[in-house]
Amino acid sequence: MIRDAAADRSNLNSASARRLHRNCQFDKKTTFWLAFTHLGCLAAPFTFTWPAFWIFIALYILTGGLGISMCYHRLLSHRSFKTPKAVEYGLAILGCMAAQRSPVYWVARHRLHHAESDTDNDPHSPRHGFWWAHMIWTMMDLRVADENEFYQKYAGDLARDPGHRWIQKTHELWPVLLAAALFTAGGVPFLVWGFFVRTVVVYHFTWIVNSLGHRLGYKNYPTDDDSRNNGLIALLSFGDGWHNNHHAYPALANHGHHRWWEIDLTYLAVRLMAFLGLASNIHTRTQSEKNSADRKAALKA
Ligand SMILES: [Zn+2]
Ligand SMILES: [Zn+2]
Repeated sequence: MIRDAAADRSNLNSASARRLHRNCQFDKKTTFWLAFTHLGCLAAPFTFTWPAFWIFIALYILTGGLGISMCYHRLLSHRSFKTPKAVEYGLAILGCMAAQRSPVYWVARHRLHHAESDTDNDPHSPRHGFWWAHMIWTMMDLRVADENEFYQKYAGDLARDPGHRWIQKTHELWPVLLAAALFTAGGVPFLVWGFFVRTVVVYHFTWIVNSLGHRLGYKNYPTDDDSRNNGLIALLSFGDGWHNNHHAYPALANHGHHRWWEIDLTYLAVRLMAFLGLASNIHTRTQSEKNSADRKAALKA
């Protein structure tokens, strides 16, 4: 279970975190992969068909919305709701299909981002350059001297889970299987739009939360990082663009809905899952405030 921001900040000076940037090296495999997927998009204008476009939209929602925003971010990184393990693993495999590395890798670095927001130990702060925060950091091999210590500290719950350990071993297979299925089902147009264009679009809509989401927008809460709320980013990233709300209350399932206009599609999807009996223990602002009030009452008693 991820701790609240105040508790995280008490651990800021971990040796693992300090080593993160010092040891980072250029990762050739990831850089080649990013170049390859971006170059694949050049074929998009020549392969457009309406069925391929709708496949692109469906997979953008499945891998970006359910896989990354709902699963990698809110479920696994912040444990802001619960779902049956089979659903959790299924959603995690959708996340793998976004080709943003394994859940353990993503979650550990995201929790580090919250613990060290906009400090020298933040893996992707725009204070180290806009393009660093947007995508260059993903091309780096952000290794730490002691990987075991790092993953135990920042993603120990996933590293100990047999299902997630299996997903960790197989995560590179899922995008390849998806690409093969797309090519088999719809030839080159499905492959280009459902795989290359969709993967790159989901990349950039995830990355703008880290780059522009710490630069452009307004703050509801006076956090000591640069996080901002931005409606356009929220629309493109399924609600993750209400980023100042999220940094102020990381454990909440609702990044949006702190003000009436802050529509949060992922949160609405979690509510739909709850209606269908697939989500429970949903952390909301009201619930969080209630828990805090309960804790204070218990201390006084
Ligand atoms: Zn987060
Ligand atoms: Zn952030």
